[in-house]
Amino acid sequence: MLTKNKSGNKGRDKRPVYPKKPSGKLYTWRKWVSYVLFLFLFSCPFLKINGEQLVLLNFIERKFVFFGLIFTPQDFYLFALAMLIFIIFIVCFTVVLGRLWCGWACPQTIFMEMVFRRIEYWIEGDANKQKKLDDGPWTAEKIAKKGGKHFIFLIISFAIANTFLAYMISSDLLIKIITEPIAKHISGFMSIWLFTFIFYGVFTYVREVVCTVICPYGRLQGVLLDNQSLVVAYDFTRGEPRGRMQRNTNEEQKGDCVDCGLCVQVCPTAIDIRKGTQLECVNCTACIDSCNEVMLKIGKPKNLIGFFNQDFIAERKPYKIALKSYGYAAVLLVVMMVFSSLIYKRENIQTTVLRASGTLYQNRGTDKTSNLYNAELVNKTNKAVKFTFRPQDSADEIDFIQKATVLPKEGTAHLTFFLIRKNNSLKKYKTDAVFEVIANGEVVSTATTSFFAQPEGSE
Ligand code: SF4
Ligand code: SF4
Repeated sequence: MLTKNKSGNKGRDKRPVYPKKPSGKLYTWRKWVSYVLFLFLFSCPFLKINGEQLVLLNFIERKFVFFGLIFTPQDFYLFALAMLIFIIFIVCFTVVLGRLWCGWACPQTIFMEMVFRRIEYWIEGDANKQKKLDDGPWTAEKIAKKGGKHFIFLIISFAIANTFLAYMISSDLLIKIITEPIAKHISGFMSIWLFTFIFYGVFTYVREVVCTVICPYGRLQGVLLDNQSLVVAYDFTRGEPRGRMQRNTNEEQKGDCVDCGLCVQVCPTAIDIRKGTQLECVNCTACIDSCNEVMLKIGKPKNLIGFFNQDFIAERKPYKIALKSYGYAAVLLVVMMVFSSLIYKRENIQTTVLRASGTLYQNRGTDKTSNLYNAELVNKTNKAVKFTFRPQDSADEIDFIQKATVLPKEGTAHLTFFLIRKNNSLKKYKTDAVFEVIANGEVVSTATTSFFAQPEGSE
């Protein structure tokens, strides 16, 4: 389905790209979508639920927060499942809607097209003026325009770097880094500037290369798209043979494309969509808008370039979702159900009890046997918890070697103890031992392990 792009690579070699300023209905929609996404992106680390920020991805301390729920390394299985859901969702989404994410929701594109590019248009003018300015000598006007642009780019990159760090190290720590003396947060201060320059470099110089070369998702398109995927495409059956209106004398044989080149001029990745679906197309829909304007002017129907699937263009088959997409959706649903039930069952206090290595059992007098255990309690909340640790069977006794009664917030507690059982209750060599953690009068966590003993009467 993907066409080997001859023009896209050419476009990349001809950097920098000067895309013409887009306009139109879809562009207006993209602007509104980007405003909502910006609001979410910038406010998310500063909004709190239960004292925890809405989203935190602290890889250094291995702490992750989503909508107030704290996830620790002990929740790795949930993390793995969430990643699986994400991958299946991406596959499912791409098979049905192509690379829509890239053009409409990816932070790289929305910052590039809706912030940096628009500032460039505002300061330097449209594509032709930008190129003229770049090619021209260093006059006072050029220095002022370039200096002003790069200064604003740097400020915005600084804001993005701060927000990025708020997601990574928490907004509370970020505020401390900003408000407290630099000497107290040298590494934090350096990180802010390091990321500022990274974002500045990406949005000022690297630009569309992130989408066309670096991003692995873009490279996956060739595998994921099929003839039924909806993508931004040129309706060649309607558009060809293309030709400029005035040159073509035979109106009847002419296709609708007037070869004005506007769709190429607005393309931020410098490709010609008329050559087929290409890896470099981020589905930004700028070419749809520009072509629709042309169609309106020449009195032809809209959507010579539009959201189509190849089956529709080639054979005019009505759109229907591919069977394999239903398969992906079903798998996604099942994995999501498993994930939801695990989240629902997830305990805020996680208890692990393991038998101490190198020990089997100890005889305690003539009528009792004990096993030695180590327990670890993990508090996944942001409040300290007073707790009691006890065996579920009230006939069992505990003799603590190392005891704790308070779990620090987001911390752990370690216990070492003997579980003592009466021999007359032991019928088997290996039986279950269940422990409970009680906090505020409720059982907040349980853990099961094994108890070994020689049952009475056996040798
Ligand atoms: S071909 Fe059209 S949709 Fe694709 S990147 Fe270029 S302008 Fe955007
Ligand atoms: S904008 Fe439309 S009419 Fe103009 S060259 Fe592109 S496809 Fe043809």
